[in-house]
Amino acid sequence: MSLRGYLIEGAKELGVGVSEKDADLFFEYLENLKTWNDKINLTSIKNDRDIIISHFLDSISVAPLIEDGKRVLDIGSGAGFPGIPLKIVRPGLEVTLLDSVNKKVSFMNDTIRKLGLKRIKAVWGRAEEPPNDVPLRHFDYIVNRAVGSISDTLKLSSPYVSEDGTIILMRGKRGSEEWNTAIEAVENKFELVDFKDFTLPLSDLKRIIIALRPL
Ligand code: SAM
Repeated sequence: MSLRGYLIEGAKELGVGVSEKDADLFFEYLENLKTWNDKINLTSIKNDRDIIISHFLDSISVAPLIEDGKRVLDIGSGAGFPGIPLKIVRPGLEVTLLDSVNKKVSFMNDTIRKLGLKRIKAVWGRAEEPPNDVPLRHFDYIVNRAVGSISDTLKLSSPYVSEDGTIILMRGKRGSEEWNTAIEAVENKFELVDFKDFTLPLSDLKRIIIALRPL
């Protein structure tokens, strides 16, 4: 299968539509990621197919939980995951990408510019110290992929989520264990609205998605 086939068919398996035009944006993103990765450390995954599966498909695996047109904050976005892929497949979203490493923020803003994406920005800062342009209690969805423990991530996310908003945690193969450890501390403060345990398409990579709403 071609790389484009991996992306489009893999997305279909996740219930997400990727058009040819979306695919063009993903490949432009892939090229920019590889160019910058030669200069700064953005990802240890170097192979195109693995980037498509472990970064792009993984990122859009939460798209079915996200309604287009809403406001999304990606805390600890790194090289833009999951926020930039989500913006490509849900173009009506207003997306803010927050990261504490300035070079990663520069990479994200360069990618946004090269892909011609609108209503998306990357902001430099630590979630504990809300930057001026990242308002509190404002976002319909907070997404986090691979940022700290479940309880730490919830602490970082809670101030930013709107009253009816949802916090979406994306975890790897130890996600179920982590959730079982965190559940007691979390259950009086959050309602579990979705829990998905699945394998990423075209791979044997286990993933967990936990969606929570503050009580
Ligand atoms: N979400 C991306 C992904 O899945 O590829 C990056 C994950 S990386 C393991 C964690 C990222 O979170 C890093 O880019 C780091 O700079 C950022 N980060 C860690 N603590 C943070 C904080 N308190 N506020 C903002 N960003 C933070």
